Amino acid sequence: MSHPHPELGAPPALPRNGLRVVALGGLGEVGRNMAVFEHRGKLLIIDCGVLFPEEHQPGVDVILPDFTFLQGRWQDVVGVVLTHGHEDHIGGVPYLLKERQDIPVIGSRLTLAFITAKLKEHRIKPKTTQVAEGDRLSLGPFDCEFVAVNHSIPDGLAVAVRTAAGTVLHTGDFKMDQFPLDDRITDLRAFARLGEEGVDLFMSDSTNAEVPGFTTAEKDLAPAIDTVFRTAPGRIVVSSFASHVHRIQQVIDAATQHKRKVAFVGRSMVRNMKIAQDLGYLKVPRGLVVDAKELDNLPPDRVTLVCTGSQGEPMAALSRMANRDHQIRIGEGDTVLLASSQIPGNENAIARIINGLTRWGAKVVHQGNAKVHVSGHASAGELVYCYNLIKPRNVMPVHGEWRHLRANADLAISTGIHPDNVVVVDDGMVVDLVKGRVSVTGKVRAGYVYVSAGSVGDVTEDELRDRVTLSQQGTVTVIALIDAETGKLTEPPDFVGRGLGADEKVFDAAIPAIEKALADAASQGIGEARELEQRIGRAVSQWANRKHRRNPLVIPVVIDA
Ligand SMILES: [Zn+2]
Repeated sequence: MSHPHPELGAPPALPRNGLRVVALGGLGEVGRNMAVFEHRGKLLIIDCGVLFPEEHQPGVDVILPDFTFLQGRWQDVVGVVLTHGHEDHIGGVPYLLKERQDIPVIGSRLTLAFITAKLKEHRIKPKTTQVAEGDRLSLGPFDCEFVAVNHSIPDGLAVAVRTAAGTVLHTGDFKMDQFPLDDRITDLRAFARLGEEGVDLFMSDSTNAEVPGFTTAEKDLAPAIDTVFRTAPGRIVVSSFASHVHRIQQVIDAATQHKRKVAFVGRSMVRNMKIAQDLGYLKVPRGLVVDAKELDNLPPDRVTLVCTGSQGEPMAALSRMANRDHQIRIGEGDTVLLASSQIPGNENAIARIINGLTRWGAKVVHQGNAKVHVSGHASAGELVYCYNLIKPRNVMPVHGEWRHLRANADLAISTGIHPDNVVVVDDGMVVDLVKGRVSVTGKVRAGYVYVSAGSVGDVTEDELRDRVTLSQQGTVTVIALIDAETGKLTEPPDFVGRGLGADEKVFDAAIPAIEKALADAASQGIGEARELEQRIGRAVSQWANRKHRRNPLVIPVVIDA
């Protein structure tokens, strides 16, 4: 198995009959998926998603792939193929099109409807080409064929890219639910046909590679969802992704059966569900869906609200409900159903929401206490099926954290693919397919680009660290009365803390460190207040770090006594 070398630099020129693959996101993380294919001087982009910030990235709206690799080459881009309509695959497109607005955007009907609506909010009218499974489309030197795949959103596509250097099959996100709600299964016959023809590089979704067996069918959730609807005494609030059409269909079906009305809450939820309904992907009986305002006139046991925020996103409807900062006041008798996964990194935020809602008296049903979620991604058994069916010459696992990529690589090797033909790489690593063999040839920039308060790239890592210090580590003001003659404390200093999450008294243990710092200063003849403040600040910071592994912002104030 090839592993990345930290000393890798810019890649060499690509041989004329070579194909270069660079993931600018999605490797080593769940989100921000973006792959760039380069062949004969042209570039094809597969997906352009966002990553959602974690708690240590306060004030960040979303995280984008770094487009530096494409700078100066925008005219070479022949198109961006979108495999499906999830935010982690399409959310970066508005920022991509700000670089060059007429890049052709290729995708299925639902995917294009979602991205077009999103782009409209950014006042961008994209140049789109709609494709469906079975279609073939030439984009410069890239001959693309689209294959139906089943995922947690309808209308997903895998894409086979034929080039003079060989054929790549990229799965997008997929699983192999054999009884999906829309009867559209992953086209394994097409996978087999492509395998027969010869797949030189197989790039497959790794998200669930560590999970043994097969992913449970979406339909298997129906009993647990039905139980919620049958037993809830009052309102039901369902939280899910704004794109999770299949799951919301199940909620619609349960609401219909139990004679409840449904209202969608939140801009993206309202927008996407209207699109899905208009295009026929979401089947809603007439009169079932009402405006949220009309719910006030209905008894609580006739009400279902469907909103976003299942990942604990602080600005989404659900977390505002948990904080009583939303017009919908959660209380006794309400049942909240978290009908989606927990994306790694969001566990704490989600736990906080569950606790918040429970404190107001709601009953919270989630994947930890009921079978209300199945994954949208292929488990190990399904991935092994693919390897055996396709028999690819080379494999590059995509979409997942390191552990997922590695697990997927191990599955490939277990089916007999030689370890030398499996590349496990990080964002920005350059993988070249030349004469049927893959190798890692270099590295390009692929760091995080933060969107904060609507502006791109203005926030640096350093500023984020300061934000975290202020928001999580707190501040402590140290007020020290010092005898100007002796340079010693005249009395124990006062500690005034904010946001420390601890009693200020813990700082009393820092007094010896302060006394020592002052004694050192006195022995060097230093008595100026500003210099003493710096020394006190340093002493307290070092103490907090050494004793408690914390880095509060220390504000020392010296007063001459
Ligand atoms: Zn997806």
